[in-house]
Amino acid sequence: MAPDKNRQRRIYFDHNATTYLRQEVVDLMLPYFRERFGNASSLHFFGQENRDAIDSARAHVASLINAEPEEVIFTSGGTESDNLAIRGALRARRRISPANHIVTSLIEHPAVLKTCRDLEEEGCRVSYVPCDRNGVVRLDLLEEAMASDTAVVSVMLANNETGVIQPIREISALARSRGATFHVDAVQGAGKIPVDVDDLGVDLLSISAHKFYGPKGIGALYVRRGTALEPVYTGGSHECGLRPGTENIPGIVGLGEAARVSKEDLPREMERIGRLRDRLERGALARVDGIVVAGASAPRVPNTSSMIVARVEGEAITLRFSMLGFAISSGSACSSGANEPSYILTAMGFDPGIAQGGIRVSLGIVNTDEEVDAFLETFPQVVSRLRELSPLK
Ligand SMILES: *Cc1c(COP(=O)(O)O)cnc(C)c1O
Repeated sequence: MAPDKNRQRRIYFDHNATTYLRQEVVDLMLPYFRERFGNASSLHFFGQENRDAIDSARAHVASLINAEPEEVIFTSGGTESDNLAIRGALRARRRISPANHIVTSLIEHPAVLKTCRDLEEEGCRVSYVPCDRNGVVRLDLLEEAMASDTAVVSVMLANNETGVIQPIREISALARSRGATFHVDAVQGAGKIPVDVDDLGVDLLSISAHKFYGPKGIGALYVRRGTALEPVYTGGSHECGLRPGTENIPGIVGLGEAARVSKEDLPREMERIGRLRDRLERGALARVDGIVVAGASAPRVPNTSSMIVARVEGEAITLRFSMLGFAISSGSACSSGANEPSYILTAMGFDPGIAQGGIRVSLGIVNTDEEVDAFLETFPQVVSRLRELSPLK
């Protein structure tokens, strides 16, 4: 790679993959790696001061989603929360009834999709509900999929690739009318838009700290009081026995602080980031021909833009941008590398060849107007150069 001034540039537009830690979060965590190392189950002061730290973090997480602190279970992140919710609820339901059916959607994160596929191998039935052209799960088909033995309904709040917000209240009404347990993967919603478990009408809801400026490897599952749920792991009585294991105290403290600060900043950042995103999309559409914004006419979280660029591969765009100092993504981080079109874009009805041109730009609290300008200046060159080389005509 030729050295050039752009090697110095490091612009991060991939906040849906992960975020850095806010300074307040790091500062609050540090003592828990050093002098405050106690086990929160110990009766002595080393333990008790950490018990207090966990309680305080639990209150902040509860406040972010309008829950009671007792309804928050700490886990190792979004993936574990999704597993605990779906496997744990199904198990609890199977114990009391013949319920053995799950309803989910085709556009869920692999943490939900692969969990459902795994449960199918164990003899459970799963219905994968399609979405419409805008990336919104089809309510009519979801209603049709509901059966008398539906135990769990699991649909995400906001899609990780398109940012499209799903009609959670309406799905809740359908799930509740059939007596199914309703789980929502809110990993891409929490910290980006207001999340209120009562307003949404959910029984179980997953969040992950590293998607909103907290540390990796820590998350939470909201469990509405009275919801039947069994643990996936066995061990001690931590987290009401639902998630045994000595608590990750630095992580929990970091998650709590990320929740506290995100809630405070939410109204301001939503508006600011939304303006940046809209400007980025308008600029991209004006400068580069053959761009479609996926999910543009659906409600979306304010930070995410999923664009499909004709006659180029999203992966090539991402790599070229990376050389020029911009971090974006083609598809979701977990499935990239495989040079396959995004299953989310194909579920939205885009032809696989067209969906190959998908890129995702996801903004965060550090991003500025200048960075969006730099991106818009670079975009046309990147695309025209790749189109010259491209076999896709
Ligand atoms: C990132 C993500 C997850 C997984 O969360 P981890 O904490 O990384 O395990 C689950 N669901 C969605 C929608 C995500 O974006």
